[in-house]
Amino acid sequence: MITTDLANVQAATPVSEPSTIVVKIGTSSLTQGALGKLALATIASLVETLSHLQQSGYRVILVSSGAVGVGCARLGLKERPRTMAMKQAVAAVGQGRLMRVYDDMFTTLGQPMAQVLLTRTDLVQRSRYVNSYRTFRQLLQLGVIPVVNENDTVAVEELKFGDNDTLSAQVASLVGADWLFLLTDVQQLYSADPRYNDDAEPIYIVDKVEQLADLQVGDRGSQWGTGGMVTKIEAARIATTAGVRTVITEGKHPENLLKILSGEALGTQFSAQPRPANARKRWIAHGLMPAGKLYLDSGAVRAISQGGKSLLAAGITEIEGEFERQDAVQLYGPNGQEVARGIVNYDHTELQKIQGHRSEEIAHILGYDGAETVIHRDNLVVHMA
Ligand code: GLU
Repeated sequence: MITTDLANVQAATPVSEPSTIVVKIGTSSLTQGALGKLALATIASLVETLSHLQQSGYRVILVSSGAVGVGCARLGLKERPRTMAMKQAVAAVGQGRLMRVYDDMFTTLGQPMAQVLLTRTDLVQRSRYVNSYRTFRQLLQLGVIPVVNENDTVAVEELKFGDNDTLSAQVASLVGADWLFLLTDVQQLYSADPRYNDDAEPIYIVDKVEQLADLQVGDRGSQWGTGGMVTKIEAARIATTAGVRTVITEGKHPENLLKILSGEALGTQFSAQPRPANARKRWIAHGLMPAGKLYLDSGAVRAISQGGKSLLAAGITEIEGEFERQDAVQLYGPNGQEVARGIVNYDHTELQKIQGHRSEEIAHILGYDGAETVIHRDNLVVHMA
């Protein structure tokens, strides 16, 4: 259900401590004016709020954009760079400056911080995923606030998070956060664009992200950043399916985080879905990059989602993509909705041959013995209906 009537909004119960919160702030909140100068007052308020939260027992991670924007300002560029090499060079200039500003401000408040730069590939390989998790955990145990950005200077186009909304949701999933705050330039989501539509109503609570499917949200990011509402809603989907309560709220007032954590109905709040049983399943669902799609009949959807069963070849009706064994794939039901993700035991050519067949027939069709299941249930993450 989507709640647009404030009277029906119930205060959030603050989660039991120590809870972990991930806060994402974008370039449009961190900079001001056409030249991308830093919005120092906003950054100071953010740093104060996060230090306060950390010192009151929360574990805090900041995901901050701004490397490209600040780099442009530092180099006097009038517009966002277009070529990859230029973007990467500019980000290298801006990232250092950005960290300098954060570190000065956090240090003034006696709060240690750390720079963590991630690329999409860090989360694909299981050993690097686990390693990144351990580093975050260690930093948080030390009372440090990690300040995360994409490693723009080395990331390659096909293997980028692309925007920090997605990055922040992935980080929230990785560390098993309780809250993700996406700070942006509007107070909350509206049922239509409020600039052009007098009937636009603020949305306070979203129980399931799918309920926003019909919403007309602008998809353009700001002049310097890359996100927009579309990437925020996608980030909310990733984070909530990983069990993270997600809030879209205004970046100009970071101090509002304290109010939201104490139960005020500010911003648009997305309810968390049940958290996948273990961290490995969250890696399968969000760390791995799916290389293909399997379409299932309704019997197979029922078996995996209600019966906790493995996926067998018999229930597969169609295959898309050129995936190898042990790649991740997305599973779709007959109504076209994604129902699960998992790691396949067969590559796409093998699956083309055995789809729709019973497991006993597989050895005969392929001419060799294969796994009994296409995706074993330990390697399957079902999205809750
Ligand atoms: N990583 C980019 C930067 O720091 C920003 C990506 C985004 O705008 O979401 O400039």
